[in-house]
Amino acid sequence: MIEKKDSLAIGEYIKNFARKHSLFVLAYGTGCGAIEIPPTMTSRYDAERFGIRGAATPRQADVLLITGYLATKTLKRVIRVYEQMQDPKYVIGFGSCTINGGMYWDSYNTINSLDKYIPVDVFINGCMPRPEAVISGFVKLQEYIQEGKADGWRKYQNNIEEYRENQKRIIKNWRMPDYNL
Ligand code: SF4
Repeated sequence: MIEKKDSLAIGEYIKNFARKHSLFVLAYGTGCGAIEIPPTMTSRYDAERFGIRGAATPRQADVLLITGYLATKTLKRVIRVYEQMQDPKYVIGFGSCTINGGMYWDSYNTINSLDKYIPVDVFINGCMPRPEAVISGFVKLQEYIQEGKADGWRKYQNNIEEYRENQKRIIKNWRMPDYNL
């Protein structure tokens, strides 16, 4: 006989299995790395064979892909997009700029570390990462989803005050609504 806790675990396993094979991606082309997305999605590398495809709006997307450096002005839009997405949702930081600022590390108007402002589930390093690296990053995300470890969205909810403090420290004219918190 299947215990209640086992049936919950099986249910979660099946849900995660479905989630990881159906990733609708909103690619926010913030930096030069965005140029690697078309070859990743089209016939040569064919990301759709892994269940990865584009989404038209934040409300239909599972994954937010940030493709490089982020100006402080753009960060506000990215936060707004992220908060409009439905849970569970995932973020991939693409390129060295999302990790430590990359070649813009001391720029006056870009951020250095994306995960201070929104939670990042997977980083793909490189400047710029090739399509093979992008696919490998998605496969890593799929592993985390299956194992229940892609829980940045939960971390965001639980630590919203800390994220808001970081966000408002850098975005002076905040004035925008809170979505889905
Ligand atoms: S990591 Fe390199 S390729 Fe990517 S946005 Fe930064 S400078 Fe451009």
